[in-house]
Amino acid sequence: MPKGKDKKWVKIAIISTLAVLLACYLACLPRHLFQSPVCAVLESSDGTLLGARIAADGQWRFPAIDTVPEKFAKCIITFEDKRFRRHFGVDPLAVGRALRMNAAAGKVRSGASTITMQTIRLSRGDRDRTIGEKIIEAILATRLELRCSKDKILALYASNAPFGSNVIGLPAAAWRYFGRSADELSWAESATLAVLPNAPALIHPGKNRDRLLAKRNFLLDKLCAAGIIDLEECRLAKDEPLPGKPHPMPETAYHYLETLRLEGGDRLYRSSIDYGLQRRAEAILERHAEAFATNGVNNIAALVVDVHTGKPVIYCGNVRSGAGENLNGREVDVIRAPRSSGSTLKPLLYGAMLDEGSILPGMLIADTPFHYKDFSPNNFNRTFDGAVPARDVIRRSLNVPSVRMLQEYGIDRFIGVLREAGFTTITRGAEVYGLSLILGGAEIRLCDLAEAYRRMALLLDEYDAQGRGKQVFPLSAGAVWCTFNELTGVTRPEEEGDWQSFNSVRKVAWKTGTSYGNRDAWSVGATPDYIVAVWAGNCDGEGRPLLTGVGYAAPVMFDLFNILPPTGWFSVPENDLVEIAVCPQSGHPVSDICLEGHPEAAPDTVLVPRAPRRPDVCPYHRIVHLSPDRSCQVDSDCCPVAEMVNESWFVLPPAQEWYYMRSHSDYRRLPPLHPSMKGSAGSGIIDIIYPQGGMTVASPVALDSRSRGVVFSAAHADPDATLYWHLDDSYLGSTSHGQHKMKAVPSPGSHLLVITDTNGNTASVRFEAR
Ligand SMILES: [Zn+2]
Repeated sequence: MPKGKDKKWVKIAIISTLAVLLACYLACLPRHLFQSPVCAVLESSDGTLLGARIAADGQWRFPAIDTVPEKFAKCIITFEDKRFRRHFGVDPLAVGRALRMNAAAGKVRSGASTITMQTIRLSRGDRDRTIGEKIIEAILATRLELRCSKDKILALYASNAPFGSNVIGLPAAAWRYFGRSADELSWAESATLAVLPNAPALIHPGKNRDRLLAKRNFLLDKLCAAGIIDLEECRLAKDEPLPGKPHPMPETAYHYLETLRLEGGDRLYRSSIDYGLQRRAEAILERHAEAFATNGVNNIAALVVDVHTGKPVIYCGNVRSGAGENLNGREVDVIRAPRSSGSTLKPLLYGAMLDEGSILPGMLIADTPFHYKDFSPNNFNRTFDGAVPARDVIRRSLNVPSVRMLQEYGIDRFIGVLREAGFTTITRGAEVYGLSLILGGAEIRLCDLAEAYRRMALLLDEYDAQGRGKQVFPLSAGAVWCTFNELTGVTRPEEEGDWQSFNSVRKVAWKTGTSYGNRDAWSVGATPDYIVAVWAGNCDGEGRPLLTGVGYAAPVMFDLFNILPPTGWFSVPENDLVEIAVCPQSGHPVSDICLEGHPEAAPDTVLVPRAPRRPDVCPYHRIVHLSPDRSCQVDSDCCPVAEMVNESWFVLPPAQEWYYMRSHSDYRRLPPLHPSMKGSAGSGIIDIIYPQGGMTVASPVALDSRSRGVVFSAAHADPDATLYWHLDDSYLGSTSHGQHKMKAVPSPGSHLLVITDTNGNTASVRFEAR
């Protein structure tokens, strides 16, 4: 074989070998050097540590940092690797020195490890310090230098170096030993931490402390000698004490971090939480929790959301203190827990009905006993007002008129409104919720409640003169404005029937709610900048007497509003609103006769959303014909037309009148009919056939001398109607198919029989029983 060919093959072999070696070299460094589990870490909006949870392997290892604080960088470089900024991963001068020292000593005394090599070493786990391993570290270190900048390598090192005990990395060490972030460490503190990775056991208390102090001061002297700190700085730094017992990690916004890591795993969460406000809010909740505990109410949650960003400013998923051995559910984040809504959804129904034009703010809604299938709602104070303005239904949170409103609006449609408004837990159909949907029949989450009110506030904030706001919401800006206006004021009679006054410096639109059985107390409030939502109750669902939204949640809510920065009020979305004239008494659009006889009176005007329709004109004012002395009603058969007095009279349907009169002493009942007109009365839709007004009924007595009861009867203009029968305050039952007969056993005395149909038509009769 010719020699030239040999040479060529040798060349190819060498080049191939070099190429393979180069490829091996380039590929030798793993893509991710460190893959150890990290802590879940929560920071506030200004970067303050709010809380941290230990990593899955039991180490305090914070997520890696990108940059190393300058003081620590100078300390670690001075202490470990003073030519770090100049070498290529291996420091030949240090290697030469180490070889000389080791040869003189006859054993390995100095490793000549650069920070880059130590970073590699940390990434390869706890391996024996052999010459072979050293060489591998050196090769990989040069490779790491090719991949990363010096600052990046330093950050890798600082993130993963051991700092004694179960503390890994600079950020966790700064918090654990000094209770603050690494950026805020002094020279003495930075120097203390810089000497630890080389001898982590020194952090343990005992005799080590002298050695740790000596090492720290040695480093401070070196820093001084290098001109990094001056003599005075050095002297003062040496006076600083060594760290004592490890600091516990903060647990501010505890439940927020728990909830975030459930969804997003263990990592760093830079949140929108305002550190100062969060701390003050937690103190407020703890104070209230102590008082609530005396009534067996153990849990409170509060959420404050920035209207413009949609992000939480305060997040208290529950109270934390006083849990002791019995946690009382305080580990649960109630902000995300579905709970019965109570009355908190009523304002959305009010707004939706304003938008479609089926109600007006002052329009009377019947507040009389209501029965539908097996559903017989009661107002909180178990009384009826007969008829109440729609705005009072939400201001006073009346249940029975709310149910009537929902029945008119439609359960299915309202479910659509709620879903569109962001209530993610309202997933079932109308047949499941029924009319109780408006009274707490559905479960909602505090975060969704806050979000719905936030979007309402944002709708007004973003409203411009040209038209609608930017976002889509099931209510118009006009309807939200009208609804919010009804919900302002710090004093109002509420659920428990008492007047509650709150000390608030802010104007707030707010609504409370109390669920069935006093299990959940809610309060939510809106300003142009913030939404505050509060829940109080027991996580295990136990109801407590007196637990109401007004009594428990609202005081917390107002305390939270009072620590928030002041805000103005919403401007009027003028293009969304129109002014209409209404009857001062009924709130319906004013009719020709509403003001008859009162020439000085003017109709009321209200601002309402533009709507496709309006309620009928006032149906309650009607012209009545009276005898000249106004003592009775007359007709042309019993009184000459010329002598009749014609007067506009406000007349409520009988059942409403019965209840309305109790709370409205100024209500004037119609004078009785002229005797000759009796018999033509009751020409309404429902006619009560038996008993007649004022009669005395006697029920037959059976042989065992027990009453057999009496049978009432009535007729309805519509043969398909269903009638609901009430004797005084008790519900007797319903009748249909044109057969309207109802048996009852009235006790001796005076009684009121009230019959209603599904359309709200009512007939009533007062009679005596014996
Ligand atoms: Zn009227």
